[in-house]
Amino acid sequence: MKPKSVDKARKPRFAKLDYHFGIKLVAFPSADQKTTIRHNSDAARFVYNEFVALGREAWHLRRLEKSLFQNQACSTNPGWFEQPIKLVAARLAVIGDQLYNPTHLKRRFKWLDKNKRLDSMMFYATLNFYRASWHMFRQIHSAGVPKFHKKSDRQRYSTLKTNNNIRILDQKHLQIPKLGKIRVVKLPDWLLNRTDIEIGGAAVKMDAIGRYSISLTLGSEQAFKDALPKTGSKVGIDVNVENLLTDSFGEVVENPRFYQKQLQRLHREQRKLGKRAARAKQEHRPLRMAKNYQKQRQVVASLHRRVYNQRQNFLHLVSTALIKNHDLVVVEKLQGKNLLKNHALAQRLQDVGWGILFENLAYKAELYGKGFVQVDPRLTTQTCHRCGFVMGRAGTRKLTLADRIWVCPQCQTKHVRDHNAAINILNKAVA
Ligand SMILES: [Zn+2]
Repeated sequence: MKPKSVDKARKPRFAKLDYHFGIKLVAFPSADQKTTIRHNSDAARFVYNEFVALGREAWHLRRLEKSLFQNQACSTNPGWFEQPIKLVAARLAVIGDQLYNPTHLKRRFKWLDKNKRLDSMMFYATLNFYRASWHMFRQIHSAGVPKFHKKSDRQRYSTLKTNNNIRILDQKHLQIPKLGKIRVVKLPDWLLNRTDIEIGGAAVKMDAIGRYSISLTLGSEQAFKDALPKTGSKVGIDVNVENLLTDSFGEVVENPRFYQKQLQRLHREQRKLGKRAARAKQEHRPLRMAKNYQKQRQVVASLHRRVYNQRQNFLHLVSTALIKNHDLVVVEKLQGKNLLKNHALAQRLQDVGWGILFENLAYKAELYGKGFVQVDPRLTTQTCHRCGFVMGRAGTRKLTLADRIWVCPQCQTKHVRDHNAAINILNKAVA
């Protein structure tokens, strides 16, 4: 089932604006607003999962068809499967097309229509998410086919702007569909003073410790920040397992210690949580009734939040410094390469770190009028930047993670592996 574009007229116009910006605001909903948020979050998850179920069924069907075709040679009755598969696929496509229209969706699931707390634009936003997750899968296969959203301690849903349904009321209040006037933390002056800024949509969230936030997507024809002065400098970045990054000037940015410490503590508290869950299970108590488990869950959730925040702050500092000091920042494309290495949790977290760092660099480059390029990382580690000799060729052995320093067999230059790789990465973009 191929999702179709449902909101052709509205969304592209906002996407076509020259500049985009996101802002996250802590929110303080009333008890009634909290109920509405929960209902919308539940409905968004339900709709998303309905689509994932349909989409995955269709995807598996196509795979089955493919593999049957490949085995057709050994079949005595070739093509016997064609008809039934086509029938099922056609039925799935019809259901999918129908459901892609929120009116049909509500007709099929009556409770969605009856619940007056549900925001109709939430359905469109959810369908957009679904479409985006398949798009992601097609582009980067390692992202996996879209997964079901599990019921969790968190809540979230998104909504889209139409006819001024989302707007800023005053310095401390937003208007959000179905929630009405909702209090948020004080809005920044620049946002209130500018008349050129449009709101594209809003994401309403509650985290695992029960704190609420509203993220607004903003767009404008004018830049959100003044361009930073040009420095005439270009830099290549190599990311690796031992530290956060090495740049083409040979500077190394280590992973911060405080983060590792928090991580150790997080592991300890998570083990404790596991034990409490096991004990509750042994005593046949449901987890939501197990007080000690719930208390520990809060501890783990706030630690997660703290680790996340510290990481985020650190990555912001690093990315801002890079964008400020250089006109062009070049990094490698992450896909594939790091998946091979990420067997341990720490490394997985580090991968996430790089992903966030690169995202930060991309949007800050746009925000401050600088350049950001991602290049194919192939051979950047193995090539000598001086003479272009490639290790592993002409009878030489390939460099491994253990070779931190090496000498080029052709030009005899002594290289620090990551520094050399960072220079190659820069050169790939400049060439
Ligand atoms: Zn060389």
